[in-house]
Amino acid sequence: MSKTIIISNRLPLQINIEDNNLEVTPSVGGLATGLKSFHKDGDSIWIGWSGLTLEEIPENLLEDVKAKARKEDCVAVNLTTEEIDGFYYGFSNRTIWPLFHYFMEYTEGNTADWETYKAVNRKYANEILKHYEEGDQIWVHDYQLLLVPNMIREVAPEAVIGFFNHIPFPSYEVFRTLPWRNEVLEGVLGADLIGFHTYDYERHFLSSVSRILRHQVNFNEITLQDRIVKVDSFPMGIDYTKFENAAKEHAKNTEEQSTELQRRLDDHLKETPDAKLILSIDRLDYTKGIANRIRAFEYFLDHHPEYIEKVRLVMLSVPSRSNVPQYQRLKREIDELVGRINGKFSTVSWTPIWYFYRSMPFKNLIDLYASCDIALLTPIRDGMNLVAKEFIATRAKQTGVLILSEMAGAAHEMNEALIINPNNFEQISSALIQAIKMPVEEQQQRNKVLQKRLKRYSVEKWANDFMETLQNTRTHRDSFK
Ligand code: UDP
Repeated sequence: MSKTIIISNRLPLQINIEDNNLEVTPSVGGLATGLKSFHKDGDSIWIGWSGLTLEEIPENLLEDVKAKARKEDCVAVNLTTEEIDGFYYGFSNRTIWPLFHYFMEYTEGNTADWETYKAVNRKYANEILKHYEEGDQIWVHDYQLLLVPNMIREVAPEAVIGFFNHIPFPSYEVFRTLPWRNEVLEGVLGADLIGFHTYDYERHFLSSVSRILRHQVNFNEITLQDRIVKVDSFPMGIDYTKFENAAKEHAKNTEEQSTELQRRLDDHLKETPDAKLILSIDRLDYTKGIANRIRAFEYFLDHHPEYIEKVRLVMLSVPSRSNVPQYQRLKREIDELVGRINGKFSTVSWTPIWYFYRSMPFKNLIDLYASCDIALLTPIRDGMNLVAKEFIATRAKQTGVLILSEMAGAAHEMNEALIINPNNFEQISSALIQAIKMPVEEQQQRNKVLQKRLKRYSVEKWANDFMETLQNTRTHRDSFK
């Protein structure tokens, strides 16, 4: 029986070692949920890194890690600290990530990192080939594994391979600056089907392929010497019912059942019943526009002092890649900005920004989503932005307003939100006022449309659509033999 092989940088599970004992918990992330229907017993395996380097796993536990992963239908790729440094923190996050998000000044071109990236991609590909049997379908995920599709194709020319890029694909003028542009494109073109979140990313990719590699491109098909590669957009959704149900449960909670965080949020609402809570949630990443968001909030309070004590920005920043220097600098910048603005505007009974630098358990995330009236999401570049979709899914009474950057992939599907340019403080300030004043009926009207769309195009539907298109691409390909 044929199976699906899913492959991503990280496995959908968390492994912890406590007192020489292994603890494995399956992760509940969006990707894991979306692929659930393919990742059932026997039907599929998932290959990826466990999150622990070889140096972190005591030798006597190595076999245990393997066995525990296998129990979850996962195969762990073993990586050393040096490999993670060059492959993940190096080439993936200091070269591809900034370049693909248009941060050219942050983009490094370290040849040693590139060599490690190639070697680690080869490791992943070899692991796939160990498990691959003819008839299987292989789905490779994201920018850490751009070379894997062709590495498989070279050994198994008949393989059915899909690739999905979860981050933006930049315009040709930006992409062409990469020293290894040919190798990267050739790596991805090993796939039969290449997926992006939006049509724009797809278009940029096609244009790079035709201008750099000079392949023939017809609409969304690339003609290679021996095959045709299809490129298409599949905007990733969320596990809608999970968020919808959690918000409904949250609404039923009595005071005793609520969390400490919820009690704090409730206190705020009791003290200032007409005040609005404005929410932002993101990883602490320079692409998310966090510093600009705080400056825009300052601009808003400077120009509209009538809203002092009437609004509060609740900001959750999740620690991320904290050993990359740009992330460390950004952390310091945000700490300073929050301190300065709280110092500037606070009154004895009010602070304008509540800032959390941590990740929160799901229950607390729902507390935040459900208690806030407005979400202010201002990425400078973002492949998709799932937080925008989760905020809408948690609107149990369909009230609330989403303010979303036009630079987020999600903005293409969320026209009923207030769409802003994250560099335009005046526009952000006006959008905040519009959101604060928006009549409930209008909020409900907008959210109703958004909810319907998000519910229909859930993460499961996204995964099914991709796999179905991959199957059709293969049938199409075979009929030309
Ligand atoms: N999230 C989380 N824990 C937190 C805060 C956020 O698991 O403490 C989740 C959030 O629910 C969302 C994801 O992290 O599903 C962020 O996805 P998004 O596409 O917005 O941004 P990314 O981090 O992938 O760039």
